[in-house]
Amino acid sequence: MGEPGGPGRDPQELLPHPVTGRLFPSPVPPGTGWPGDPAAEDTPVARTASAAARLARTAPDVEELDARVSVCRACPRLVRWREEVATGGKRASFADQPYWGRPGPGFGDPHPQVLVVGLAPAANGTNRTGRMFTGDRSGDWIYAALHRAGFAAEPHSVASGDGQRLSGARIVAAVRCAPPANRPTPLERDTCGAWLDRDVALAEPTLRSVLALGAIAWTATLQCARRLGWAVPRPAPRFGHGAETTLVSSNGKAIRLLGSYHVSQQNTFTGKLTEAMLDAVLSRL
Ligand code: SF4
Repeated sequence: MGEPGGPGRDPQELLPHPVTGRLFPSPVPPGTGWPGDPAAEDTPVARTASAAARLARTAPDVEELDARVSVCRACPRLVRWREEVATGGKRASFADQPYWGRPGPGFGDPHPQVLVVGLAPAANGTNRTGRMFTGDRSGDWIYAALHRAGFAAEPHSVASGDGQRLSGARIVAAVRCAPPANRPTPLERDTCGAWLDRDVALAEPTLRSVLALGAIAWTATLQCARRLGWAVPRPAPRFGHGAETTLVSSNGKAIRLLGSYHVSQQNTFTGKLTEAMLDAVLSRL
């Protein structure tokens, strides 16, 4: 985290959205005009794990699912952290921007052939911009690769409202709130799994393959498939870069699961993950 609120700033100050210039408080209240905000003022809010499970299970479509997840408050530690970062804990270089400060809803094609599953939002990335993998270096990598593979309209994703669109692909995450030190607890992962379950279930009719970015996303996808009653090979397939297995949905449809090292700075700066390695996996989707 950067200098609290940035130098000399009031954490409650209304600040202009970087694309539209419209003024927002941080965190951004639902239904107030943030570009791409799926929620309205009256979107139901989950305050417990059981409410999250119920609201996820009953979401009739992807639009409502995105709206409900974007206002979820089921994990007290993560709610506190995401809002602390959004108010007093902004990175100094973004201190003149409002922070989304809410869970990251899924982004992309509501009827995808490919589902990309990440780990969790970054404190100054999705937690600032309100869009998955947007506004940080991890996002530069994944959107550039999705653009090269023909899924993304633009090679960058900088801010909501920047014109980025995905076609045939949708990005979700194992956990939708930015966690301290990028580490959600097992309970937080389980609680948020309800949103992932519904995302996968709603995508199933058009889904061809899932790309898991990192071991946590890989495990979360296998657990999600089991909860949905899909056939998962035993013993559980192991994660690795380029790993592949086939899951069979409850409708008998074969869906491929592919693994890639996560597009984290730690992996991309050190060369553990190169553009060529990422492109090779995406070409198999
Ligand atoms: S991590 Fe998931 S379940 Fe927990 S508060 Fe955020 S959106 Fe809700």
